[in-house]
Amino acid sequence: MGLIGSLITVLLAVLGAGYFFFGGSSSAPLTVTNDMSLLATYEGLHRYEEVRDQALDVKDLVQENVKETMDSADAPVLSEVSETEKATAPEKENSAIQIMNRLMNSGFSVPGKPRTIDTVVLHSSYDLNGTDPYSVSGIIKEYEDYGVSAHYLIDRKGSIYRLVENKNVAYHAGVSKMPDGRQNVNDFSIGIELMNTQTGKFTGAQYDAVNNLIASLKKQYPIKFVVGHSDIAPGRKTDPWNFDWKKVK
Ligand SMILES: [Zn+2]
Repeated sequence: MGLIGSLITVLLAVLGAGYFFFGGSSSAPLTVTNDMSLLATYEGLHRYEEVRDQALDVKDLVQENVKETMDSADAPVLSEVSETEKATAPEKENSAIQIMNRLMNSGFSVPGKPRTIDTVVLHSSYDLNGTDPYSVSGIIKEYEDYGVSAHYLIDRKGSIYRLVENKNVAYHAGVSKMPDGRQNVNDFSIGIELMNTQTGKFTGAQYDAVNNLIASLKKQYPIKFVVGHSDIAPGRKTDPWNFDWKKVK
């Protein structure tokens, strides 16, 4: 509209100038003025069309760029969204930690009566089959294939996923025996898996997360033991691999 407004202003100015120039004399000026205004109108329209076409070109270019940007961003954005999509909104366990629900459908049992929890068992695992050893969905798929689980999975960045509710018995320890002689450790323990390979090191974020999670569990249950899988299934299990126990409070 600004352009049209300007055109009208230009036209009026040309008409006015013409009238003034020809001194408003009786015969010819009107025709000349009309010719000039027509010319101005024609040129104005032509110019308007040019500007409009340029504007349309720019608009097309912008749209193409936007589309390209969206296309190139599609893959990583979508995979990130789908990863978190399956998880419900982050839930506050307490003021310090956030836990994302990725509850499994298998690899655990629901006890007939409330169970007593006094032990935390730490494990490590990674996805053997996929291209990314630290894929949350890949690791969960692996657990499903083996009919196992853990209550929690901590990724490399220290994000905590809940796979099984605390009240349920997760199949994480297998054949196992506590230093005090108790067997079937699954029945009275919480299992925490930390993503790591056999040769890798745990990240600082993972130590922070596991400490926060253990602190939170201690507030909820009378936890007396924090052990590694290798402590309760010696000779059979070696995880959590390369775990620095000095870093667990
Ligand atoms: Zn284990």
